[in-house]
Amino acid sequence: MLNLKTNIALLKGDGIGPEIVDSAVAVLKKIGEVFGHSFNFTAYPIGGEALDLTGVPLPEETLKGCLASDSVLLGAVGGPKWDTLPGNLRPERALLGIRAGLGLYSNIRPAKLFPALREASPLRAELAEKGFDLVIVRELTGGIYFGESGRRTGTNGPEAYDTECYSETEIKRIGRVAFKLAQKRSKRLTSVDKANVLESSRLWREVMHQLADEYPDVAYADLLVDNAAMQLVKNPAQFDVMVTSNMFGDILSDEASQITGSIGLLPSSSLGDGTRGMYEPIHGSAPDIAGTGKANPIATVLSAAMMLRDSFFLEKEAKTVENAVANVLNCGYRTADIAAGKPAEALSTAEMTEKILDKIGQ
Ligand code: NAD
Repeated sequence: MLNLKTNIALLKGDGIGPEIVDSAVAVLKKIGEVFGHSFNFTAYPIGGEALDLTGVPLPEETLKGCLASDSVLLGAVGGPKWDTLPGNLRPERALLGIRAGLGLYSNIRPAKLFPALREASPLRAELAEKGFDLVIVRELTGGIYFGESGRRTGTNGPEAYDTECYSETEIKRIGRVAFKLAQKRSKRLTSVDKANVLESSRLWREVMHQLADEYPDVAYADLLVDNAAMQLVKNPAQFDVMVTSNMFGDILSDEASQITGSIGLLPSSSLGDGTRGMYEPIHGSAPDIAGTGKANPIATVLSAAMMLRDSFFLEKEAKTVENAVANVLNCGYRTADIAAGKPAEALSTAEMTEKILDKIGQ
């Protein structure tokens, strides 16, 4: 496709959010120059930034702006400044609101070990040598993060509760996303649940088994979440596509990120039924390093590559960004989080971005 003109909403957010989104925007602008596309960017406040400006973490104007755009690039939200606010005013609440508001029910989180970063992975050398390349498909608008919750007085005094509830429809639609993705990859799918204890997981498993009959070309397996957490560090190469609920996916994808070397490397896409998606790194706002120039921009840059591929169908452009990142790592350039014992040689966020831009231009 030539000369694509498209509108991208930017939600920079808090902490390192603005720094890493700026890097990804520079990369998209460079791709625009090289391939003749025009990306138009409009920034909207979200999270703590929005709270300070408007008193709410997700202003109506932000949701409207995202709904009117072709795609959304998000940094991260949250920070100690807003940690003591009540749950409905926490910056993180904006994430749930925007996912629900945009109907983004499927969150795709690829995790692969770049050969150049084997030494940065905490895996034993022989496991790191084998490498891994897996994708976690996480349900994003259901489950315990969206279920009924509250406080009450029980027989032992004050108590609090959260509810995990999944409908057959919600499980089926995320299941289909995962089976279709498995068909495009190595045709292996693992569904992660806690069906030995949770009723919601038993329904999850029943529905996944019905779907497995519809996709006989996909080798399907069930795995309990506690075992999945162990297997991810014991032998990650056994996995290709994994599908799981909102909370299990949240936790397992952080674990998967750590074995790649750094959480600063992992991108994600969130999609619904249309092509408009929200693309964001899987990490948070990293308040401990905000403003120091130590943030790794790669997760956000790779999220922009996912946007090019999954929302704009620009495969060549997406591959160009991914190859530029792999090249930069192969050349030995590192930010502090992946500098493995050589912090003095670490590049800043801006320097790493420049290296990626140079590779795109070559
Ligand atoms: P975090 O992901 O922000 O940070 C965890 C650790 O990883 C920190 O040591 C941080 O410095 C490091 N790190 C994260 N991203 C990095 C990067 N790009 N480069 C180098 N190092 C990086 O998680 P946290 O500390 O648990 O949470 C901080 C804040 O972020 C909290 O307010 C939390 O609620 C919020 N949060 C937001 C999102 C989101 O916006 N999607 C996700 C998770 C956490």
